Amino acid sequence: MNTETDTGQPFRAGNVAVLGRPNVGKSTLVNALVGAKVSIVSPRPQTTRHRLLGIATFPEGQLLLVDTPGIHREQKRAMNRMMNRAARGAVEGVDAAVLVIEAGRWTEEDGLAYSALRASGVPVVLVVNKVDKVKDKTALLPFISEITHEREFAFVHPVSAMKSKGLEALVKNLIFLMPESEPHYAEDEITDRSERFLAGELVREQLMLRLGEELPYSTTVEIEKYELDGEMLRIAAVVWVEREGQKPIVIGKGGERLKAISTGARIGMEKLFGRKVFLETWCRVREGWSDDEAALRRFGYSD
Ligand code: GDP
Ligand code: MG
Repeated sequence: MNTETDTGQPFRAGNVAVLGRPNVGKSTLVNALVGAKVSIVSPRPQTTRHRLLGIATFPEGQLLLVDTPGIHREQKRAMNRMMNRAARGAVEGVDAAVLVIEAGRWTEEDGLAYSALRASGVPVVLVVNKVDKVKDKTALLPFISEITHEREFAFVHPVSAMKSKGLEALVKNLIFLMPESEPHYAEDEITDRSERFLAGELVREQLMLRLGEELPYSTTVEIEKYELDGEMLRIAAVVWVEREGQKPIVIGKGGERLKAISTGARIGMEKLFGRKVFLETWCRVREGWSDDEAALRRFGYSD
């Protein structure tokens, strides 16, 4: 028997894949809908490396949002190939897909993501994100009609994920596309990933934010220790780099950079987990980990 909501409508619940090229704001959108930072965000492309479920529960329904690494062209390293497979595989068995693009820009990679989605046969909702960046709002309508001309979308929603604008209407239409169902998760659950996994991601977010150009892509994070000690969490994180020469850059002069990384991550963890965290962070070398399938699996990568 299905649960009825206050409005007398049956409750709806289902899976929504969130796809698009890197950096359009997929993770920001998932976080805004969930109402907590379950997925890390940075100004750099390819911040998200793993598939992750963000659970957003509303009075009318529950959306299980599958955040994905962006679909991108670079396939040089095993890690990038795994990320592409993870993004494409995310469409299997979902009830709807959200294609996120940036307002005012349509690129070849957006086209690639659209084609992959259409081929899957699920309803595609176009989310035109970052409308807060568009100065001349009258330019938005012609842009949208150009994109939607000769392409098929179930709904089109201009939004600002960062400023939480336009999300109510999006949620309403996404729930409309979901099948009638009991909620899949309890109301207070926000992700399918463990706190241990999220802790590693929060360290990685700091690496994305605080390291220069190429280096973040040579790093990954492993949580070596995750223990509850009374009310406090004791966590030990290892930042893995690919070459000895990268270590001093991560550590910084007098250890300053690694300290800042650790502090930033700890603050994020305390906010997300709602308890005090004691975080220790080290930097170690594992040559060529990003092109080594065995190392990737050990560090928690999968497709
Ligand atoms: P993803 O790679 O698609 O997951 O993109 P992220 O969610 O990591 O966001 C990439 C960058 O775009 C970050 O710097 C975000 O702060 C920024 N961003 C995301 N949504 C918005 C938005 O609605 N407006 C603006 N101005 N920036 C945004
Ligand atoms: Mg992301």
